[in-house]
Amino acid sequence: ILEIRHLGKSFGTHEVLRDIDFTVKRGDVISIIGASGSGKSTLLRCVNLLETPSSGQILYHGTDVAGRGVNAPEYRSHVGMVFQSFNLFNNMSVLKNCMVGQMKVLKRSKEEARQQALKYLEKVGMAPYINAKPRQISGGQKQRVAIARALAMDPEVLLFDEPTSALDPEMVGEVLNVMQALAQEGMTMLVVTHEMAFARDVSSQVVFMHQGVICEQGTPAQVFGDPQQRETKEFLARFR
Ligand code: ATP
Ligand code: MG
Repeated sequence: ILEIRHLGKSFGTHEVLRDIDFTVKRGDVISIIGASGSGKSTLLRCVNLLETPSSGQILYHGTDVAGRGVNAPEYRSHVGMVFQSFNLFNNMSVLKNCMVGQMKVLKRSKEEARQQALKYLEKVGMAPYINAKPRQISGGQKQRVAIARALAMDPEVLLFDEPTSALDPEMVGEVLNVMQALAQEGMTMLVVTHEMAFARDVSSQVVFMHQGVICEQGTPAQVFGDPQQRETKEFLARFR
């Protein structure tokens, strides 16, 4: 679905990503791990076109979307993103949050958008809260709404940037459970996470980033069980 080729990103003279190469195939669940500041968020933001890459290509079904003339909102309906800070519209109900993108970007009718929103809110266990405003629900519930909102767009790939990092510990599980269920249903996912158990048990591939480059990449068994790079070993040792 996605091919990231020689991707680079600099902010001014600060090179944050260098020569990033990887491929996302249908059904892949790729966890991106690495220390703070290693460029994980910047990478996801480039893939979602929230940042413009400085060099390299992002091929979506063979078309370079990093170039000019790409309809970013339309692309983002195929490659959706879930943020650490939820990014819900605070003035809208839970239901409306899950409808607006469908109507604006996909030009779905109100009724169709509503049906689709209800289907996914049900799936994440948020159907009882459709009329609530974001401020009336917990962080874990907000994140589940954000996931339903992303799913309602029928994306081909979902990107998650530390979806549980802003949550109180008791709410981490409910969000990880939803993500694990999605993975098991075959959803293609790219997940930046500090949840090593999720990376080890749920993902098909693990990418370890260090100072803006992919330092090591492989199956969870390879990266967690038999890391090859000194940097990977040192990083993982912090979680033991
Ligand atoms: P964390 O685990 O803390 O979320 P990260 O791996 O996601 O870290 P990034 O947020 O991608 O790291 O940041 C990588 C580097 O890029 C950091 O040095 C950061 O200061 C820098 N950076 C990120 N965004 C910008 C920006 N908009 N302007 C300038 N520098 C930036
Ligand atoms: Mg980050």
